[in-house]
Amino acid sequence: MIDIVPRYDLSRCNTLRLPGVAERAAIVTTVDDLQRVIERERGAVRVLGGGSNVVVRERVSGCVVFPRIGGIRVEEEPRGRALVRVGAGVRWHDLVRFCIGQRLNGIENLALIPGLVGAAPIQNIGAYGVELDTVFDHLVAVSCRDGGVHRLDRAACAFGYRDSRFRRADADAFVIVEVVLRLSRTYAPHIDYPDVREEALRIGKLDSAARLAEAVIRVRRRKLPDPRSVPNAGSFFKNPIVSRAQFDSLRERIDRLLGYDAAGGVKLAAARLIDAAGWKGRRLGRAGVWGRQPLVLVNLGGARASDVLALADAIASDVRDRYAVELELEPRLLGED
Ligand code: NAP
Repeated sequence: MIDIVPRYDLSRCNTLRLPGVAERAAIVTTVDDLQRVIERERGAVRVLGGGSNVVVRERVSGCVVFPRIGGIRVEEEPRGRALVRVGAGVRWHDLVRFCIGQRLNGIENLALIPGLVGAAPIQNIGAYGVELDTVFDHLVAVSCRDGGVHRLDRAACAFGYRDSRFRRADADAFVIVEVVLRLSRTYAPHIDYPDVREEALRIGKLDSAARLAEAVIRVRRRKLPDPRSVPNAGSFFKNPIVSRAQFDSLRERIDRLLGYDAAGGVKLAAARLIDAAGWKGRRLGRAGVWGRQPLVLVNLGGARASDVLALADAIASDVRDRYAVELELEPRLLGED
């Protein structure tokens, strides 16, 4: 028996704490139940994981599915590697802690990223020089089109910078039920990001994944608001990629503008653009820009999706007018206008 709940309150299911009601909701703990819900709803379901990268609007029509499929299994492989099979409903940070405890290396830079494992491939989560796709083997998903179980490898997921096929043509076309990573018994640290390097100097040696994760956790706690006290959805904009010529001209206008080589040009720190445009710490209605990391928008109390989106819009159009750079939203929108 699957429990389908009418008029489901979503305000506690998103870290921005935006008010919203789903017409129906289903919490599923097995693939079979998920397939039954998809069949019943004729494929028209939306998925909500940890709600940490989503802007929930007030009305969400149809059925919202919460995949709560658990479990972590490790299969040893030759040459000091292991496949780690993880249910979509496992919390990402719990997985990081589990792997560190098992001496499996590769995702320590992704410590403290909120949300569930099933959401990680959607935007190819990344932090401090490591992206999910570098350790990703394949995933298992149920298709909303035919209800079948599919295995999608790395190429099939078409990962990009904070991007995958699940954000484009196939948004809402699959429900991810399992993610399989390939991790290593050898510790090969990525410590080239300035914040992590500085923290390393404070901590001392980063000679294990546990210590590197500790450095990342400290940096994140310092810069990012804890959603339990200040509702937010992490970075609200992706870092834009511009041409080398545009980067050189922007650098003449904006003090301390950072840029890094990326496919298609130079990746800019969007936070610096927003700061330079004077938005750091500002508020608009019931939404605000976080003072210690202007890429993060926060709910100052009682905000609705329209408040947060109006602030994002004002920032993006100001940055466009001043610098001719397009800022793209990172969170997904859920629900009707
Ligand atoms: P930061 O250290 O203030 O640096 C600003 C930006 O410069 C970063 O976003 C990063 O881009 C880029 N950068 C810095 N050092 C780099 C290097 N050595 N090589 C290439 N690019 C470099 O960054 P932050 O804004 O506080 O964020 C810290 C990390 O957490 C970043 O990697 C950020 O992407 C990640 N983060 C991810 C999410 C998410 O996936 N939803 C949410 C919040 C933060 P990149 O963004 O490309 O790394």
